Amino acid sequence: MFSAENTWNEIEDSGVMVAVVPIGATEQHGTNLPLSTDTLLAVPLAEALAERLGAYLVPQMPFGQSEGWLAYPGTVSLSTDTLRAVIGDIVRSLAVNGFTMVVFLSVHGGNDIIADMLGPLEEAYPSVRLIYADMVRVFEKATTAAGVPMAVHADECEASMLLALHGELVGPHPTDNPAPPGGYPRGRARDVSPRGSFGEPSKATKAKGQRIWDAIVPMIVADVVEQLFDGRDGKSQIA
Ligand SMILES: [Zn+2]
Repeated sequence: MFSAENTWNEIEDSGVMVAVVPIGATEQHGTNLPLSTDTLLAVPLAEALAERLGAYLVPQMPFGQSEGWLAYPGTVSLSTDTLRAVIGDIVRSLAVNGFTMVVFLSVHGGNDIIADMLGPLEEAYPSVRLIYADMVRVFEKATTAAGVPMAVHADECEASMLLALHGELVGPHPTDNPAPPGGYPRGRARDVSPRGSFGEPSKATKAKGQRIWDAIVPMIVADVVEQLFDGRDGKSQIA
């Protein structure tokens, strides 16, 4: 695996063709999880993936699209146009310097709009295969395997995963607020959940988090490897 701690010529000499880009978020996560939660969860997943692929792990983007949480102080959101421009520039840069596959990975649902940005970019840069890792499907399987409710936001799943990785960042005062059926209302989140959680972070434990990590890492690796190399959408491998 390579990272921004390598030199450019180490990357060139290695012949590495795959880049993995973790896209985070800076947004409220209830009363006991940090604003950086989604970044802190995306980075180790991207790292595990880069490790498995022998890829270049690009430094994480700390911002994503978090418009729904702007009423909570500390949240920073990129507009769709800005996010599209950033993703475009990352792809353009990596295409110009020779990468042939770029995998974007985010655990934040607001960033799923990136998936729709990749088609036009593949047309603009036909030498590069672009993947947006499907974390919804992976989270569904991993949380089921771990016996924890599917992640919504600042809930038992996210709090457990963070406890397993960065227990020192999980505060002592979770606020439970079961997620409403059909998800949370965009733009009115603070009316529905004044303290920001959509789930029961008080039920989080380190052991549950470890079970989720144990399940999710091989799942995301398998999922992305399948997309990259089996051409599920009909595209063949670009070696
Ligand atoms: Zn989150």
